[in-house]
Amino acid sequence: MEELVKSKSGKKFVMKIILNKSKCIGCGSCQVICSQFFELSEDRKSHLKGAKRGFGDKKEELIVKKAGCIQEAVEICPAECIKMVEN
Ligand code: SF4
Repeated sequence: MEELVKSKSGKKFVMKIILNKSKCIGCGSCQVICSQFFELSEDRKSHLKGAKRGFGDKKEELIVKKAGCIQEAVEICPAECIKMVEN
């Protein structure tokens, strides 16, 4: 059985990752620290692997059951364009 993300209270839930591409400066840090989920695309903006594109390609979203390295990517991103929210 897959391990779901846990909150500080211990509750388990599914997370949604939101990448705001319009704020991305293309530094590549997310790809380095979390290549499982992030890669730089041809436009030198980060791309969330497997994400649906939307909002005029300004944002990408992906539902995940495991946080893995995503929290580290959220923390390292200098432009604060990666968010992880409860879905
Ligand atoms: S760490 Fe942030 S600014 Fe840098 S490429 Fe990734 S999403 Fe863009």
